[in-house]
Amino acid sequence: MKVVVVGAGVLGLGVARALAAMDGVQTTVLESRYPAGGSTGLSAGAFIRQYVDEHELVVRCAGVERLAELEQRHGLNLRRIGVMRAIRDADTWTACERSVEMQRRLGVEDSRVIDAEEISRLVPHLNTDGMLGALWGPSDGYLDGAELCNILVDEIGAAGVGVHVRTTVTGLSRGGAAKYTVHTDHGNFPADVIVNAAGAWLGKVGESFDAPVEMLNERHEAYIFVLPETVGYTFPLVADYVPSMTADEGLYFRHEGTHQLIAGLHSNELAGAELVDPDDFYKGATQDRADVVIDLLARTLPGLDDLGYQGGWAGIYPHAAAGRAIIGPHPDNPDVIVAGGLAGQGLTVGLILGEAAAEWARYGELREWPSLERLKLPATTATEAVDG
Ligand SMILES: Cc1cc2nc3c(=O)[nH]c(=O)nc-3n(C[C@H](O)[C@H](O)[C@H](O)COP(=O)(O)OP(=O)(O)OC[C@H]3O[C@@H](n4cnc5c(N)ncnc54)[C@H](O)[C@@H]3O)c2cc1C
Repeated sequence: MKVVVVGAGVLGLGVARALAAMDGVQTTVLESRYPAGGSTGLSAGAFIRQYVDEHELVVRCAGVERLAELEQRHGLNLRRIGVMRAIRDADTWTACERSVEMQRRLGVEDSRVIDAEEISRLVPHLNTDGMLGALWGPSDGYLDGAELCNILVDEIGAAGVGVHVRTTVTGLSRGGAAKYTVHTDHGNFPADVIVNAAGAWLGKVGESFDAPVEMLNERHEAYIFVLPETVGYTFPLVADYVPSMTADEGLYFRHEGTHQLIAGLHSNELAGAELVDPDDFYKGATQDRADVVIDLLARTLPGLDDLGYQGGWAGIYPHAAAGRAIIGPHPDNPDVIVAGGLAGQGLTVGLILGEAAAEWARYGELREWPSLERLKLPATTATEAVDG
């Protein structure tokens, strides 16, 4: 069976990695730019298991296991600086305590709910006003999206997967040397099944395949600061946001390397940010958005007045209109597997959702990840995209 995967971000490469481990599949990855040339290379790199929803936790714990595999086998640099989520009300405290129990059952030994005193010991500069405590995962942290993708390309290349960069997919027709022919600006590729893992371009590629998907591509910025010499400790990733519990987007920041801090605003839901065309949006940071974060940081880290703002960048959170990740056969053509909608959280889950998409591609059903049936694309999404 010939499978063509469109997109060499974390998800497309995760699909290809899983396909490479299956018998009877010849896999080709087509990428219009270069590995991690989309959202994956523009992310803040956080890998996080600190979630309160059991489904989310199961996928994330497995995702971090896969990342640790890549660390062991290929030296992927997982910087385990810790992840701390602020708890501001009693319901969130209870949900976080449950999360810790679930994490124990899933093999995460070191996560804890900590009180404000312990927060201050770990992050002495942090203003803990209004915080009851935090959900603390000392062995979560961040990685480099480009490094991850390059390691995956090497690994799947060694397993016989062809990766074609600077090759833009333009359409799909029936027949040829296999069930379908995938058209690109650099020739045609035979395919029996095609996986559309084009991130923010999922809608555009889907349209060219007559397998439409409605995307809501939110533009998000991240900012870089130089830390004063006097800090003397490593900032974990601190997030004023607990998924499933916090309604609005919240500030996050973390140490970057040895001397910098990266910060931004994050929500797993649509945050009302500008919706953009992935081929035409401003990739720098805007001063008005930066000012919001600079102001929040000043209030959150009041002792760090001399934090030097260094500019920033913008990329896309690829949200699917379905409101969650979408993994599964397209309702109009089950030979097209849709894989996307990872929004602002693809690095922890990309490899696992890639495995699920590979199962759909190879077997037409889920085997190892039956619980991810819930991520199938609803039939109405295709119709809405056509009508809308
Ligand atoms: C500022 C910012 C901060 C973020 N921080 C985090 C974070 O800390 N942690 C986290 O987990 N997530 C974070 N994210 C989100 C994360 O980057 C995404 O969830 C993830 O990268 C999506 O991966 P993907 O493989 O689906 O898409 P992409 O990485 O965009 O990959 C899609 C690929 O498809 C290719 N493509 C598109 N069209 C075609 C075509 N026609 N033919 C061939 N190839 C094509 C593109 O070039 C691209 O390389 C952040 C995102 C941004 C913007």
